[in-house]
Parts: sequence; structure tokens; C-alpha cells
Amino acid sequence: MKIICIGKNYLEHAKEMGDIAPEKPIFFLKPDSAILPKRNPFYIPNFSNEVHHEVELIIKIKKLGKCINLNFAKEYYSEIGLGIDFTARDIQKKCKEKGHPWEIAKAFDQSAVISDSFIDINSLRDINFHLDKNGETVQKSNIKEMIFSIDEIIHYVSKYMTLKIGDLIFTGTPSGVGPVNIGDRLEGFINDKKIFNVNIK
Ligand code: ZN
Repeated sequence: MKIICIGKNYLEHAKEMGDIAPEKPIFFLKPDSAILPKRNPFYIPNFSNEVHHEVELIIKIKKLGKCINLNFAKEYYSEIGLGIDFTARDIQKKCKEKGHPWEIAKAFDQSAVISDSFIDINSLRDINFHLDKNGETVQKSNIKEMIFSIDEIIHYVSKYMTLKIGDLIFTGTPSGVGPVNIGDRLEGFINDKKIFNVNIK
């Protein structure tokens, strides 16, 4: 399986990165080796001095598809989860300056937190989500704040790569990204229901 991550999909986050809203979805990949094993703590890697949390809604692909028509995109997913796209921000900045790929800042081991449970998207009337760090809310948004909707993302990404059953799409982070430190506790919520918990070591 592959993990597709969308960049700058919330206006306020694009702004906090010193950028503007993109005209088309921006995406990159994380390998399956980036998945943090369930209930493991996250160990800050020794190659970065500035690892940021990015809380993101995650879509699970349930049907094989390529060049998916926008009107049929809904047939390709029914479950939504929540996770963290851990990002070595100091390294990402250097990659951007040099025009290099982002993998060493984004695709490293344990950089993808994925909630244990996924929720039937049709059972939710609205989708609010937030991330608490040490009991205080640091990131908070609603699915409607996405610049590109889930359907638009699926339509766009599937022009370039086949989506397979079990693939995950991290749909971008809202504003409020920030560094994690040893001893921090991160908790993710969808509609005030706690859906993951990660300790930083
Ligand atoms: Zn992200």
C-alpha cells in the first residue's frame, strides 16, 4: 500500500508556511515503512532539531481505480480516520531552498501516525477534528475548510497513479503546526471523540 499526502490544503496553513493557496492539489508519498506501529511512542529522530506535528484527516481507499471521474470519486472510499504527518521542518526548509524532493523530511520511519479506528463517513453529519498537545488544543478545523475536497483529490491523484485498495490519503493539515518535544502527549479527536494518542520520546 502507499500513503498519499496532500500539501497546503487549508488556506490558513498555506499562509503560515509563507505561501498562498495552490491552484492544483500538491501531493507527495510516504512509504508503508513510515507507519508508526500501533500504540508505540514516537521517537524524535536524531537527524532533526525541529519535528512538527501536522494533524490530518485520512481517507482509506476501498476500490481499485485509475483516472477516476469526479462524479464517481465517492465510490472509492467510505471510511475516515485521523493521523499525524510528522515533518522534519528544518530539513524540509533546506530541501525547499535547494529545490530537492522532500522525502528525508516527510517519509522517514514512524512519520505516519494512523488512528486505530476509522469511521463510516456516511454516519457523520459533520466532520470537525482537532489535535491536543499536553491537553491543550493546538490544531482545529472542519472538513469543509479543505481547499480541495476528498473527491477532487481522488480525481486529481488518480490521473497520475492508480489507487489501490488499502491506500491511504492524508488530506492536509490545518494551521497551528508546531514542534514536538520529548515528554509531549498528542491526542487526536474527530467530533470530540478521541481517536488516537501518541507519546513523544
Ligand atoms: Zn501534511
